[in-house]
Amino acid sequence: MPADRRDDTPKAPLIRLADYRPPAWLVETTDLTFDLHPDATRVRARIDFTRNPDGPGGPLRLDGRGLRLLRASVNGEDVTDRLTLDAEGLTLDAPLPDAFVWECETVIAPAANTALEGLYLSNGMYCTQCEAQGFRKITYYPDRPDVMAVFSVRIEAPAELGTLLSNGEPGESGPLPGGRRYACWRDPWPKPSYLFALVAGDLRAVSDAFVTASGRKVALNVWVRPGDEDRCAYALDALKRAMRWDEEKYGREYDLSVFNIVAVDDFNMGAMENKGLNIFNSKYVLASPQTATDRDYELIESIVAHEYFHNWTGNRITCRDWFQLCLKEGLTVFRDQEFTADQRSAAVKRIEDVRQLRARQFREDAGPLAHPVRPDSYREINNFYTATVYEKGAEVIRMLRLLVGEETWRKGMDLYFERHDGQACAVEDWLKVFEDVSGRDLSQFKLWYEQAGTPRLRVREEWDGRALTLTLSQRVPPTPGQPDKKPMVIPVACGFLGQSGDEIAPRRLFELTEAEQSWRIELPERPTLSLLRGFSAPVILERDADPAERAFLLAHDSDPFNRWQAGAALAAEAIAAQTALRDGVPTLTPAPIAPGVVEALGKALRDETLDPAFRALILAPPSEDEIAQALFDRDGVVDPQVVHAARERWKDALTDALADDLAALRALHRPVGPYSPEAADAGRRALANGALALLARRPQGQADAAAQFAAADNMTDKLAALTALTHNGAPQADEALEAFRRQWAHDPLVMDKWRMIQATSPQPDAFARVKALSEAEDFQWRNPNRLRSLVGAFAMANPARFHAADGAPYRFYADWLLRMDKVNPQTAARMAGAFETWRRLDAGRQALARAQLQRIAAEPGLSRDLSEMVERMLDG
Ligand SMILES: [Zn+2]
Repeated sequence: MPADRRDDTPKAPLIRLADYRPPAWLVETTDLTFDLHPDATRVRARIDFTRNPDGPGGPLRLDGRGLRLLRASVNGEDVTDRLTLDAEGLTLDAPLPDAFVWECETVIAPAANTALEGLYLSNGMYCTQCEAQGFRKITYYPDRPDVMAVFSVRIEAPAELGTLLSNGEPGESGPLPGGRRYACWRDPWPKPSYLFALVAGDLRAVSDAFVTASGRKVALNVWVRPGDEDRCAYALDALKRAMRWDEEKYGREYDLSVFNIVAVDDFNMGAMENKGLNIFNSKYVLASPQTATDRDYELIESIVAHEYFHNWTGNRITCRDWFQLCLKEGLTVFRDQEFTADQRSAAVKRIEDVRQLRARQFREDAGPLAHPVRPDSYREINNFYTATVYEKGAEVIRMLRLLVGEETWRKGMDLYFERHDGQACAVEDWLKVFEDVSGRDLSQFKLWYEQAGTPRLRVREEWDGRALTLTLSQRVPPTPGQPDKKPMVIPVACGFLGQSGDEIAPRRLFELTEAEQSWRIELPERPTLSLLRGFSAPVILERDADPAERAFLLAHDSDPFNRWQAGAALAAEAIAAQTALRDGVPTLTPAPIAPGVVEALGKALRDETLDPAFRALILAPPSEDEIAQALFDRDGVVDPQVVHAARERWKDALTDALADDLAALRALHRPVGPYSPEAADAGRRALANGALALLARRPQGQADAAAQFAAADNMTDKLAALTALTHNGAPQADEALEAFRRQWAHDPLVMDKWRMIQATSPQPDAFARVKALSEAEDFQWRNPNRLRSLVGAFAMANPARFHAADGAPYRFYADWLLRMDKVNPQTAARMAGAFETWRRLDAGRQALARAQLQRIAAEPGLSRDLSEMVERMLDG
């Protein structure tokens, strides 16, 4: 045989939404018995099948991957010899009654499972991850979300694995001969296989209780390794607040007598909403003031809430097929965003979310990986857990609420729960509910689920002395497979400010439904428009405004989002003006930054009536990626190093002009007294540390940062100081990095932060450091958190150094993707997205990036996850 193994690995088939068929067989109950062993876990399954009267008929086809089948029977009769096995499952082509009991026994090897999908071992602890298609690596099953069954589970394990958990309610447990023990669980709520979970390990519970609105008591447990018990309090508190919030906001109560959360070290994602047994990346559970930053606390709060909210939006009502992923994810992200907005500052939360959306989703929407919120085809569903499905999916929900109004929205949610509880649904079911409660036709709105790409919104104003004629037009750019787009429904919230800065007319919501539309609005004076208030639609607003108008909105707009947006636009435009094409090549221009622009920001920063957290966001410059995309739209080519240099100039201009203000802000807002992760203190730290980041561009600020590093009693302040020193190339940086390493070498999660600071440093030696750290013996790269914090962070969050003109970092990164692909294809494929912006670059860098993508694509035995990603990036 030729050496190229790709020849005998057929390309994974393209799966299309249009080909959906209901399942041929339904399952009533699924009973599983696990006899746990690292190399040979035996799984016995007993499944009640019934023929689906609405199904397409045909033989019994079960999914299964990497399983060793010992035996199988139908109604007690052995059928092992009559099965046809292949790489993706088995088929029993024999006459079958309309209802029968399938029993089978398989053997799997959790210790060898490095892909972290199915049942695997993480530091001696058994753990599962089944979404999307991991259950088929445990036993043969119709592994699709529209098959929902009641699961009973019995776990047998060595006695030293003291904690044996699965979904639902606990049943019997006790000792077994030979130093073993068992525990049983039963989940009364029918669920698809992707929500199955099992955990076994030497774990400790930190426990609490919650009484539901109707008076039922729920035991709450956060399970961690011995020694981590003192880092669970915040997660537990966030869980109780989330449970209460869902009752008050949506009337949704929890429906079991126990809710378990388990923290695991090796995990591909953030967390997983398995029914009654949420499994978390330990990074999103464990927190103490000494080890976690304010940002970590906020993420723990929102992820705990997100997974809990899935109990209704995802678990009780699930997805019909994986194309409908946004149905649970977009809605649940929207719900966790609302929760955080209620717990903290709604304005700050909205700005943070839009910054994230622009940084991750707009970038995806503009490149070769662009896809609709509901994709219409895939080869590997794991590649569609994307910013588009999650974050844009949440924006679509937010627009729907805006269009139907708050009251109708709640009625719609009630009807959705009432009508579809216990079902597996599609986007059409969701929209029908809102058509029924609102009387609106949502067929055009549905385009938000079907058309990829970020719409561009243009604005024209004409003032005739009495009325304003506002003309809005839209254009959705072509994306892979979708050259022509139809006009979308775009809700544009708009305010009208008079010369005094006051509102001269009530806010209006314009619904743009055509390519171009005009409105005539009578007003007492010519207004300054505050457009797209609250970021009422996920679009790019193309509007030429002069800096004076932006400064006016920054000073006066009553909409906090647009107030921030005005400052962000001032900064972005000032940075963009630092670069121009010279002979087709992006180059820095000699243009100085207008003092008026900096002063407008200074004025907002000094305004003590404004929330410190909000001012911290005003101070933060736009990301290099966001600037790069704007320059690509303007010039058609981007040099990431020129973008970086222009942004550094902006930071210098701010520091020079506002040094005294920054020092005063820092002095005023550094919280005193014991650390609290609560939002008000976190906001003040964000402002003080934002000021420090700029001040540390100068020797005095570096001395202040070194002093803060030495004195800080919490990770937020310590890390902010260490980052300020490292990223500004301060002479104290290396000593501080070494002191930090000595203090935290025993704590992998904290060391991830240490690596990330170095990986994201704009200093010229960043790549050499990343290489050295990645080659260090203690670097546990097989753990996804470790690899992402160093190699992933370098490629995703250090554009100036990743896009070096010689292409060496591209080769380095491709090497790592290939290495990780052999162990954990899902994580490798997700990290590959660092290359998605390659077509924005100049011809030289494009050729270097393309060469690496082609090298990956040609690798023998490449996973279907990674091969789909690189092919889309090369073809798109
Ligand atoms: Zn989710």
